[in-house]
Amino acid sequence: MTETTSLPDDRAPLGKRSFTFRCHSGVSCYLVCCHKVELRLLPVDVLRLKNALDLHSARFLDTYARVGAGDHPFFPAVMLNMADIEGFPCPFLDKEGCSVYKDRPSACRTYPLERAVEKTGRRGQMKSHYFLTNHPYCKGHAEDHQLTVRQWERDQHLHEYNLVNDLWAEVDAFFALNPWEGEGQAGPRQQLAFMVCYNIDAFRSYYKQHNLLTEYRIDRQRRRRIENDDVELLKFGFDWLLHVLGDRSTLIPA
Ligand code: SF4
Ligand code: SF4
Repeated sequence: MTETTSLPDDRAPLGKRSFTFRCHSGVSCYLVCCHKVELRLLPVDVLRLKNALDLHSARFLDTYARVGAGDHPFFPAVMLNMADIEGFPCPFLDKEGCSVYKDRPSACRTYPLERAVEKTGRRGQMKSHYFLTNHPYCKGHAEDHQLTVRQWERDQHLHEYNLVNDLWAEVDAFFALNPWEGEGQAGPRQQLAFMVCYNIDAFRSYYKQHNLLTEYRIDRQRRRRIENDDVELLKFGFDWLLHVLGDRSTLIPA
């Protein structure tokens, strides 16, 4: 299960073509795909999961995740640890199925599709491309149920995730330019960026301590959303990183 930001060159995107798939508890492979999986967590995934589990984001990362190689050498990825027991199941798998279904990670809800984004047009809008995976163990493809990408996006509530993941793609593309000013891996700037992207509760303390919201022109409604909603805080964090590290005009000084 992966969500990628670069276009795979060996497969054609689905576009408007439909695909056949249905996953349900009656398939012979039920929950096979929730074992021994290399599952990458994007910033919004960490945020949703830590809230679903009612954990501080630092505690979530310590308990469930590890740092792995990202899409480029200049910023790491966060990977979900499988449980260290027979079969290496996902730690959120229980007898009934996925215990965090409502907040399952982007890759899980997108499967059996993979999503890639590219910047298009003069204004660099993000365009989605979906690719069909076809793992031999997954019998869902043999079910008599046709879907379009649009239906799948709607059924899986992908838009709310994609919105934040597209902003993240922009930030990660910026990190790929190695903006760490020679500090190398895990230098102070990269650690700060990692905190903003993955440790949202620590960033909440940080922005309050440094009065960040008063440093920029932010209207009252957005300020209230940032103060009360982790997703809005994450979006502000992305803007802040692009502004302070990349001198982008994502925020305007007060
Ligand atoms: S049909 Fe595919 S997605 Fe569903 S349980 Fe089986 S392997 Fe997993
Ligand atoms: S988060 Fe849920 S859907 Fe995803 S691998 Fe774990 S148990 Fe399966």
